[in-house]
Amino acid sequence: MHDLLIENASIIDGTGRPPFQGGVAVDNGRIVAIGEDVGAGRRRIDAGGLSLMPGIIDNHTHYDAQITWDPHVSPSPALGVTTVVMGNCGFTIAPCRPDDREIIMRNLTHVEGMSLDALRSGIQWEFESFPEYLDFLERRGVGPNTAVFVGHSSIRTWALRGDASRRAATPAEVAQMQALVREAMAVGAVGFSTTTSLQHNGEAGVPMPSRLADAAEMDALAGVLAESDKGTLMITKGLGTPVPRLEALSALSGRPFIVAALLHSNATPEAVFEDLAMIAEARGRGRRLYGAVSPCPLTFEFNFHAPYVFEGLASWLPAMEAHDDARYRALLASAEFRAAVKAEIDRPARRLFNGEWQSMHVLKVRDEANEQLEGKSVAEASARAGRHPVDWLLDLALAEDLDTMFIATLLNSDESALARILTDANALISLSDAGAHLEFFCDAGAGLHLLGHWVRERKLMPIERAVQRLTSETADAFGIPDRGRIAPGCWADLTLFDPAIVGRGAAVRMHDLPSGATRLVTPALGVRAVWVNGEQLVDENGLLPDAPLAGRVLREFNS
Ligand SMILES: [Zn+2]
Repeated sequence: MHDLLIENASIIDGTGRPPFQGGVAVDNGRIVAIGEDVGAGRRRIDAGGLSLMPGIIDNHTHYDAQITWDPHVSPSPALGVTTVVMGNCGFTIAPCRPDDREIIMRNLTHVEGMSLDALRSGIQWEFESFPEYLDFLERRGVGPNTAVFVGHSSIRTWALRGDASRRAATPAEVAQMQALVREAMAVGAVGFSTTTSLQHNGEAGVPMPSRLADAAEMDALAGVLAESDKGTLMITKGLGTPVPRLEALSALSGRPFIVAALLHSNATPEAVFEDLAMIAEARGRGRRLYGAVSPCPLTFEFNFHAPYVFEGLASWLPAMEAHDDARYRALLASAEFRAAVKAEIDRPARRLFNGEWQSMHVLKVRDEANEQLEGKSVAEASARAGRHPVDWLLDLALAEDLDTMFIATLLNSDESALARILTDANALISLSDAGAHLEFFCDAGAGLHLLGHWVRERKLMPIERAVQRLTSETADAFGIPDRGRIAPGCWADLTLFDPAIVGRGAAVRMHDLPSGATRLVTPALGVRAVWVNGEQLVDENGLLPDAPLAGRVLREFNS
């Protein structure tokens, strides 16, 4: 008698094999049999012919803070996700000394799109070291399976304290950081992550600490992974670390390297394809590089209290540095500041925003008198008013006390380019950024979007190929053992869904973060049930009210 039987399913097993009819038997959290007749079970689920796939492995999340107060890391499990990889881009909260908590939280507030109040009242600081962080997660329990990077910004803050975002490290500090990476790898970190992207700033425009690392520091830290011969490197790359430099780091460490964020920009439309071509060449030389790509258009909802969209512009730095509100508003109104912003936007570069005014719309105004502007693009409305878009936009925001909500689809808006990217053999489906940018967007349902939009609506690839990309391909890239496939011996991480309606719904703004802060959340469409290690977490209504903490903290990875 098996613990659990799921019968009458269309099984998409994660290997790329076409769907086949049958059932799955589970004992002690693992799949023990697959086929037409798998015996008897204490619990029997009739799948009614719906599709059963391995649970989605979301390899780019930022739940490091949220998981301390919300171990189920909503909304990911309801969106079919059974394993999350956290600590991407080097943004972690361990190691962290009590005295440095404020620095770490201030750094996270912009990049995570989460208010400082939410972080202050939410994070359960029951750890200092990385090993203690993993032990805490394990002791307390986790909803989905959880793998954690050791993050560059945290270890740099540990070693350099208040100077972490100011200067290069001394050889002694680099040695200290190496020791921290070594310690984290020894207790089961999934790898080492970092960022060199100009878009990654802490509060008041302070660069994330890893952006201050020089080549010697990067070499030394990547080199630690060579010692253990396990773990994955991950970076969100900026201009200073092009693909050939990352290939060199991969060679030096002998480890796989996840290269983010390969998003398509209409301003530099060939850039992402050049990156993928360089990654293909590196692979030809035996380097395991993966281009991290997203199936979602990158849409930001924002206001000028926190205009992340503009924060990758060098000319915006004075605005981020303006500590008090009056100075900030005076700057937004000043002709000199605006002139610098206009001049920079006129020079397209590899960055988030390049003056795509036709893709930026007024979402919600504060004043009734402005209601006719809702839904209008900034390009159209500013042209009608005879103003430069920068002037028009900032004038409107200032007139409404910065409360006007805008929405901008800045990257990944070209569907034909995206179709090429998503079918590229060197690409890894990634970049949901679940747990981050919470005020601006929610792509935690990126996997469902691939299945609904790209497979069912656009017929870009067979469903078995999409499932393979979301499951076994990711498991193999990160060396996650016994997950990402429906096969005897694998853990029973399973998602049951209706392929006729699967997808994600429109984003809803919720006020459910600690201290009442807001975030955007998308509901799942067509997900009927999700099991983690054989235990059910989700039904057709979403996360079960008494959902078990069935996940495991993953500490063992294949080399
Ligand atoms: Zn990230």
